[in-house]
Amino acid sequence: MDNMLIVISGPAGSGKGTVLKELLQLSDDFALSVSATTRNPRPGEKDGVNYFFVTREEFEENIKNDKLIEYTEYCGNYYGTISSKVEELLKEKNVILEIEVEGAMNVKRKFPEAVLILLLPPDFKTLEARLRGRATETDEVIRARLEKSRKEMACFDRYDYVVVNMDKGAQDAALDILNITKSEIKRTSRRLEVKEKFYE
Ligand code: 5GP
Repeated sequence: MDNMLIVISGPAGSGKGTVLKELLQLSDDFALSVSATTRNPRPGEKDGVNYFFVTREEFEENIKNDKLIEYTEYCGNYYGTISSKVEELLKEKNVILEIEVEGAMNVKRKFPEAVLILLLPPDFKTLEARLRGRATETDEVIRARLEKSRKEMACFDRYDYVVVNMDKGAQDAALDILNITKSEIKRTSRRLEVKEKFYE
């Protein structure tokens, strides 16, 4: 049985980080892919752990040499998934790509068997409250992020699953993701080796 490529998208304020941390604690079957980005590290972020922090020149070299599964320009910076890293991780575990909507669509185009999960807060008001609660961003940035998340909802139907992260619900959301992947593993298209055993 092959390991799965799982894409998780969600607006800022959906709680992606916390939910994925819970998921990694619940199960050893998952690995998080580390993307490359040209944005500056935030306090506490480490190169090779949160992202591979690269220059625009390095990033564009990767694009030219076809080293990325997908990439996007988001709020003025490049973000991209490194093919070789994902291939390596897939040998051992299910691989999670935590990427935004455009990247998710590009992954699905390249790998139709990838499982796309959209993580959402319960409603728009909660999203706004969570973003404002962080108090790390200016009003303008918060408004831009809220606007972007409304636009991203246009792709709602193109995800395979939607998981709602209620307040204090990170563990439940992580369990939802775990259950989704447990079912996906048994999908007929992934079990052709079982069928073949009846024709040996
Ligand atoms: P942040 O700057 O907050 O870490 O990430 C900004 C956005 O970029 C998030 O929505 C995150 O999911 C997305 N992102 C991170 N890595 C990648 C990537 O490799 N490809 C794409 N398409 N989006 C990414």
